[in-house]
Amino acid sequence: MTVEGLIKEKIRQEGRVISDDILKVDSFLNHQIDPLLMLEIGKEFAHRFGGEGVTKVLTVEASGIAVALMTGLSLKVPVVFAKKKQPSTMGTDTYCGQVRSFTREEVIEIVVAGSYLGPTDRVLVIDDFLASGEAARGLLKIIEQAGATLVGFGTVIEKVFQSGGDFLREKGIRVESLVRIGSLAGGQIEFID
Ligand code: 5GP
Repeated sequence: MTVEGLIKEKIRQEGRVISDDILKVDSFLNHQIDPLLMLEIGKEFAHRFGGEGVTKVLTVEASGIAVALMTGLSLKVPVVFAKKKQPSTMGTDTYCGQVRSFTREEVIEIVVAGSYLGPTDRVLVIDDFLASGEAARGLLKIIEQAGATLVGFGTVIEKVFQSGGDFLREKGIRVESLVRIGSLAGGQIEFID
């Protein structure tokens, strides 16, 4: 089975529709993590973006890390995750972006240390979900501040009824989503092929 098929099967069996726009996949992606599935996902992103000369994989803590790590493993490049709180050990040379949290309804600052991204980097952004694109916007700001080049955006699940995918594609950014969901209305998960 393809990795897209594996993810869809998991979503069908274990996903829970929380509301018309939230899908809970805590059993394999967002709380408990299925490492073998993550590895296959990482390989798939590495395959799709393999010819792009990626030097860093970038994500946001915490849910993006597992997928990003496996992608970095397959591409053999370092993985950087933006932190949601600046630790005192980080120093002042930092890149920052703002993210409006979809699930928690607050604006948070995400931070990456200046030493881990720079103008020579070709960055692949990886995340678990693409919804309204808020996390993506924050990460784009960080890449811009670093003077790095964005190669593309890879997401495990894209909810196409929210605006994030359109926002990125309209900017000319390559978006690769492994599974696309057209609707969660009425508790029904509708996939788009
Ligand atoms: P965005 O910034 O694109 O609105 O959403 C990005 C983040 O919000 C994702 O990385 C994910 O952690 C969280 N998120 C968005 N939609 C969902 C959802 O339907 N289910 C879960 N579990 N998380 C979501």
